Amino acid sequence: MHQSDLSKLSLFPLTKDIDSRGHLHIGGCDCVELTKKFGTPLYVFDEVTLRSKCQEFKTEFTKRYSNTLIIYASKAFLNRALAIIFKEEGLGLDVVSGGELSVAQSVDFPCEKVCFHGNNKTADELKLALDWGIGRIVVDNFDELELLNSLAHKTGAKQTILVRLNPGVDPHTHRHTTTGILDSKFGFPLATGQAETAVVKAMSATNLDLVGLHFHLGSPIPDTSSYQTAISLVLNFAKEMKAKCDFHLAELSPGGGFAVKYTVDSKTPGIADYAEAITAKVKSLATELDLTYPKLIIEPGRAIVAQAGVALYTVGSAKEIPGVRKYICVDGGMGDNIRPALYEARYEVLVANKVSDNEPTNVTIAGKYCESGDILARDVSMAPFSTGDIIAIPVNGAYSIPMSSNYNMIPRPAIAMVKDGKARLIRKRESYKDLMRLDSI
Ligand SMILES: *Cc1c(COP(=O)(O)O)cnc(C)c1O
Repeated sequence: MHQSDLSKLSLFPLTKDIDSRGHLHIGGCDCVELTKKFGTPLYVFDEVTLRSKCQEFKTEFTKRYSNTLIIYASKAFLNRALAIIFKEEGLGLDVVSGGELSVAQSVDFPCEKVCFHGNNKTADELKLALDWGIGRIVVDNFDELELLNSLAHKTGAKQTILVRLNPGVDPHTHRHTTTGILDSKFGFPLATGQAETAVVKAMSATNLDLVGLHFHLGSPIPDTSSYQTAISLVLNFAKEMKAKCDFHLAELSPGGGFAVKYTVDSKTPGIADYAEAITAKVKSLATELDLTYPKLIIEPGRAIVAQAGVALYTVGSAKEIPGVRKYICVDGGMGDNIRPALYEARYEVLVANKVSDNEPTNVTIAGKYCESGDILARDVSMAPFSTGDIIAIPVNGAYSIPMSSNYNMIPRPAIAMVKDGKARLIRKRESYKDLMRLDSI
């Protein structure tokens, strides 16, 4: 289906605009000017969209279920400027490594609102978390349960934990991003009885305080019913554990995985739809099972940052294979956004220096990396453009930059934050010197 460039604008950050010359503006800044000032590839984040997504999550959940904490899943994209924004917005943080934890520490993020995930946290990472007084550690497996208990014993701490369950629910997402089915590296399976063993062990561990249960099904999850199915399994399990070993479910986390609209045609639930489905199920089932309402911990990553981010590239060479395909090559690619190559992710593309509703042509946007799979957008329809033009790919704030690499020794892009007509770099473009910084000869 052909989309005019104008129809794609709805995917861009909330502050997007087009001026009389057809230039795309974000956060009051002309994107063409931004590329002149900072170069390309350039990632632009809109502060208004970021903050508004934080507020939307908080409002939609707390108005239905007041005892909710929204914690941002850092892996979708974290740097120090973003961490400060999340802190200011009153969110918590979900970290999965000592590195993400260090970013949180560097901005004095309130440690009680930080939650540590991961299937193979090292002893050093766990010590870092314990020394900091981290709020929650989500224990993923039996080895970690023992290791954490002994480390906490040495420091004399009693660490608050949740255990991560694997409820065995298929959320119908890409197989690389499915985590909640039985055959997964994450969490204690309900089906095998290992979840029950984990609760019993955690409750008897001298230096651990088990307060709740966590699950995360995968990402993005296109329908709300997967959450409800899993909530039902987990609350029934909590009820069983209450009867068997007096376990009290004070906190419940259904993880993250909230989908976003990447293309004009895609249909995804909104934040309010997820909030309604999750909170309604928890309330009705907790009442039915005679459990007190647990505190809800919601972990959105993608749905907070995706729409706020836009990638800008300069168009270079083109190659037309008659009767086959027209390739247009840009100055970035899989090094800054591996999602199309990794997950067959799809994006819309727009000409940022002359947005129009001219009759579109069909092209394939290729990157500059030495892999045939380095295609950013296959078979997209766009208004005509040529070498030197600037193209924009929207919904690029999540899982692009954090998975970036220096493949082919290409420096990573600069990242700008825009607001009220002002732009500031929140990460500099890497230089060739940076690429060799850690080498020795
Ligand atoms: C990745 C992840 C999230 C966030 O997923 P999104 O799809 O970005 O919302 C939340 N919780 C856990 C445990 C995760 O691994």
